[in-house]
Amino acid sequence: MTTANQSFVCPACRRESFNPHDIAQRYCAACHRFFDERSNALFNAMSTPDLEMYRAALRLDLETATQTVLFCNQRLGTIERVLRSRQ
Ligand SMILES: [Zn+2]
Repeated sequence: MTTANQSFVCPACRRESFNPHDIAQRYCAACHRFFDERSNALFNAMSTPDLEMYRAALRLDLETATQTVLFCNQRLGTIERVLRSRQ
Protein backbone atom coordinates (compact mmCIF):
# COMPACT_ATOMS: atom_id res chain seq x y z
CA MET A 1 0.00 0.00 0.00
CA THR A 2 1.30 3.44 -0.89
CA THR A 3 -1.45 5.46 0.78
CA ALA A 4 0.83 6.91 3.50
CA ASN A 5 0.84 10.44 2.12
CA GLN A 6 -2.73 10.45 0.82
CA SER A 7 -5.51 12.42 2.39
CA PHE A 8 -9.03 13.58 1.64
CA VAL A 9 -9.80 17.28 1.94
CA CYS A 10 -13.50 17.98 2.40
CA PRO A 11 -14.75 20.28 -0.40
CA ALA A 12 -17.28 21.84 2.01
CA CYS A 13 -15.35 22.56 5.24
CA ARG A 14 -11.74 21.92 4.07
CA ARG A 15 -11.14 19.42 6.93
CA GLU A 16 -8.35 17.01 5.99
CA SER A 17 -8.66 13.30 6.81
CA PHE A 18 -5.96 10.63 6.60
CA ASN A 19 -8.37 7.76 7.35
CA PRO A 20 -8.17 5.28 4.41
CA HIS A 21 -11.95 4.66 4.60
CA ASP A 22 -12.65 8.41 4.47
CA ILE A 23 -10.33 8.73 1.47
CA ALA A 24 -11.89 5.77 -0.38
CA GLN A 25 -15.48 6.91 0.23
CA ARG A 26 -14.72 10.66 0.20
CA TYR A 27 -16.34 10.93 3.63
CA CYS A 28 -16.10 13.96 5.92
CA ALA A 29 -16.60 13.16 9.62
CA ALA A 30 -17.18 16.85 10.40
CA CYS A 31 -19.95 17.29 7.80
CA HIS A 32 -21.21 13.69 8.25
CA ARG A 33 -21.56 13.24 4.53
CA PHE A 34 -20.01 11.46 1.57
CA PHE A 35 -18.70 13.36 -1.43
CA ASP A 36 -18.60 10.24 -3.60
CA GLU A 37 -21.82 10.15 -5.63
CA ARG A 38 -22.58 6.46 -5.08
CA SER A 39 -21.68 6.41 -1.36
CA ASN A 40 -23.74 9.54 -0.84
CA ALA A 41 -26.76 8.00 -2.59
CA LEU A 42 -26.49 4.83 -0.48
CA PHE A 43 -26.02 6.87 2.70
CA ASN A 44 -29.14 8.93 1.95
CA ALA A 45 -31.11 5.77 1.14
CA MET A 46 -30.09 4.16 4.47
CA SER A 47 -30.73 7.20 6.63
CA THR A 48 -34.16 7.91 5.18
CA PRO A 49 -36.21 4.82 4.33
CA ASP A 50 -37.31 6.08 0.96
CA LEU A 51 -37.88 3.67 -1.89
CA GLU A 52 -37.07 6.31 -4.50
CA MET A 53 -33.63 6.88 -2.91
CA TYR A 54 -32.92 3.14 -2.98
CA ARG A 55 -33.91 3.11 -6.63
CA ALA A 56 -31.58 6.04 -7.35
CA ALA A 57 -28.68 4.23 -5.64
CA LEU A 58 -29.41 1.04 -7.59
CA ARG A 59 -29.60 3.00 -10.85
CA LEU A 60 -26.06 4.28 -10.17
CA ASP A 61 -24.88 0.68 -9.69
CA LEU A 62 -26.57 -0.30 -12.94
CA GLU A 63 -24.97 2.59 -14.82
CA THR A 64 -21.53 1.63 -13.52
CA ALA A 65 -22.07 -2.02 -14.50
CA THR A 66 -23.32 -1.01 -17.96
CA GLN A 67 -20.28 1.23 -18.52
CA THR A 68 -17.96 -1.62 -17.47
CA VAL A 69 -19.63 -4.03 -19.90
CA LEU A 70 -19.43 -1.48 -22.74
CA PHE A 71 -15.75 -0.86 -21.99
CA CYS A 72 -14.99 -4.62 -21.96
CA ASN A 73 -16.85 -5.06 -25.25
CA GLN A 74 -14.78 -2.26 -26.81
CA ARG A 75 -11.55 -3.85 -25.60
CA LEU A 76 -12.68 -7.24 -26.88
CA GLY A 77 -13.47 -5.72 -30.28
CA THR A 78 -9.99 -4.17 -30.43
CA ILE A 79 -8.31 -7.47 -29.48
CA GLU A 80 -10.37 -9.33 -32.10
CA ARG A 81 -9.38 -6.81 -34.80
CA VAL A 82 -5.69 -7.13 -33.90
CA LEU A 83 -5.87 -10.93 -33.94
CA ARG A 84 -7.70 -10.93 -37.29
CA SER A 85 -5.12 -8.58 -38.84
CA ARG A 86 -2.35 -11.01 -37.83
CA GLN A 87 -3.97 -13.97 -39.58
ZN1 LIG B 1 -16.52 18.65 5.81
